[in-house]
Amino acid sequence: MIALKYDIRLGAHMPIGKGFHVVPMETVEIGGNAFQIFPHNARQWKAKLPDKKVVVQFKRNMKKYNIDFEAALCHSGYLINLASPKEDTWRKSVNLLETEIKICAALGIRYLNMHPGSHAGKGIDKGIDLIVKGLDEVFKRTEDLDVMILLENVAPKGSAIGYNYDQIRRIIEASAHSERLGTTYDTCHGFDAGYDIRTPDGVRKLLDEIDKEIGLEKLKFIHVNDSKYPLGAAKDRHESIGLGHIGRDGFKNFFSFEEIRRVPWILETPGKNEEHAQDIKRILEILEEI
Ligand code: ZN
Ligand code: MN
Ligand code: MN
Repeated sequence: MIALKYDIRLGAHMPIGKGFHVVPMETVEIGGNAFQIFPHNARQWKAKLPDKKVVVQFKRNMKKYNIDFEAALCHSGYLINLASPKEDTWRKSVNLLETEIKICAALGIRYLNMHPGSHAGKGIDKGIDLIVKGLDEVFKRTEDLDVMILLENVAPKGSAIGYNYDQIRRIIEASAHSERLGTTYDTCHGFDAGYDIRTPDGVRKLLDEIDKEIGLEKLKFIHVNDSKYPLGAAKDRHESIGLGHIGRDGFKNFFSFEEIRRVPWILETPGKNEEHAQDIKRILEILEEI
């Protein structure tokens, strides 16, 4: 079964400090063939489109380092909250999301991952309404762009929306552009929400839920993160692969599912490139045991 591991698309969240064009090379350096990046400084409201020169070099390096655009995605900034009841925050979120989509499109990246939002005490129904309204506004403004927004499942922490696929389905269903919405499954966040992927039954249940609610074809990426806390803890503290409560055997079980293997895997584990290279190594070791 070892040969199968070469079909896996695997990588990490990569730094953009040295420019987008450096990301494909660094991805290969850590042993990856897939990656995630922020389209701008994730802690700021401001963002600008990349220079033409950077775009040309980025695309050239995607080719040079043999990275499939289908295995690359952007992750939305931390300040964005489409469920915010504060009008100013909501409006700024819509504007920044629009810019992020334009950055993705400029780079040729087709997927933008985002956390659905936090309702800040106003309730899930109200939050979902605001998310749908915001997404539809963004889709209208970027009608001609081939970029999909992936709603990431989150930990059930505070007033976060999107910790199960019933909630994610409600957003997709209510959207006027559901064809431009998909999902990323985060293993740490899911574990926080009680999805126990350590057993075959647990993974089956998760896959069935995704399929029943939104259709498995909507699942575009996996965020592979171990969890520092036990099942259902809702802490959102990522751990290196195999060193947390999902553990090596848990991931071995999860990775054995064909539905999981056909989607690119992105690490958001502690540390930087060096630590992520170690995570990738551990994942390949686990895959060899399957
Ligand atoms: Zn995320
Ligand atoms: Mn994640
Ligand atoms: Mn997290």
